[in-house]
Amino acid sequence: MTSLTARDLRTLPKTDLHLHFQGSVRIATLREFAAKHGTELPPGLEGDSYSWNDFIDFIRQYGIVCSALQEPADFARVATEICEDLAPQGVRYAEVTLSTRSRSDVSAALDGFDEGFDRFGVRCRLVLDHVRGFPVEFAEQTLDAALAYKDRGVVAIGLGGPEQVPGASAAPVFKKGIDAGLHSVPHAGEAAGPESIREAIDLLGAERIGHGFRILEDEALVDEVRDRGIALEVCPTSNVALRLIDSLDAHPLPRLIDAGLTVTLNSDDPAMFGSSALGEYEAARGAFGMPDEALAALARAGVQASYADEDIKRQMLEGIDAWIREEA
Ligand SMILES: [Zn+2]
Repeated sequence: MTSLTARDLRTLPKTDLHLHFQGSVRIATLREFAAKHGTELPPGLEGDSYSWNDFIDFIRQYGIVCSALQEPADFARVATEICEDLAPQGVRYAEVTLSTRSRSDVSAALDGFDEGFDRFGVRCRLVLDHVRGFPVEFAEQTLDAALAYKDRGVVAIGLGGPEQVPGASAAPVFKKGIDAGLHSVPHAGEAAGPESIREAIDLLGAERIGHGFRILEDEALVDEVRDRGIALEVCPTSNVALRLIDSLDAHPLPRLIDAGLTVTLNSDDPAMFGSSALGEYEAARGAFGMPDEALAALARAGVQASYADEDIKRQMLEGIDAWIREEA
């Protein structure tokens, strides 16, 4: 392995393709919203950090954060703050997953992203997600909202929530969305095993997989996902924070790359995990000793797996090439 070089990771042009809107709400902003609307705060929130008992408890607390955003102005503000938080990390483009069925929430979030682009130069697009186990009518309403704003910046539909719950009931909704030109980016292979990835590909038409690290338990699936170029949205800090993986050192990120899979690095729920896209690259350098060439390759994979406009992709790829050409 080459020696640890020290190019500034803040200047490496990056994407964040697995970033939850509600998981990005700054804690100070959340407290303001809760006070304004008289809603409860997540029980695990203390000071400026969260704790939870397990994955299900985390999802429950995430739901409480969701319920603190009530007015269109809340969504617009959070959207702009997301852009402000991404800019100093060198994130130029993000796909942000918003959990809502409301068109006015989507419209306000897109307004906030437009303001964020103007002020901070970060372009954000939206993914709308359905929660496993929720009624299929909810998935249909989510899809309706996504299609209503497809031309304004909704690029994909997702699937979140407890992975032990099969996603099959949402399959017709995903098919309708894909046929209408949306991309499919469900979570799978995070808390549940490779069978959930198989389901996401076969039933939900997944083009990227949220997390997906448990694919390593099924060699045939690794071959298929590699050959089809289905990218994984890997979020190491999140996996450790949710105790799905014991430590960063034990994270399978290097093995996913060695298996030839398309791997992207992402932050998931930065306000809840204390994570960031920049922090994930720093962790990849620190925990795995990845040389700058490998970090640049991760950044390139993020651009190529994104649904960004071609001019953004081209500019970012040129920026990554320029970063690696600099003397370390
Ligand atoms: Zn996620």
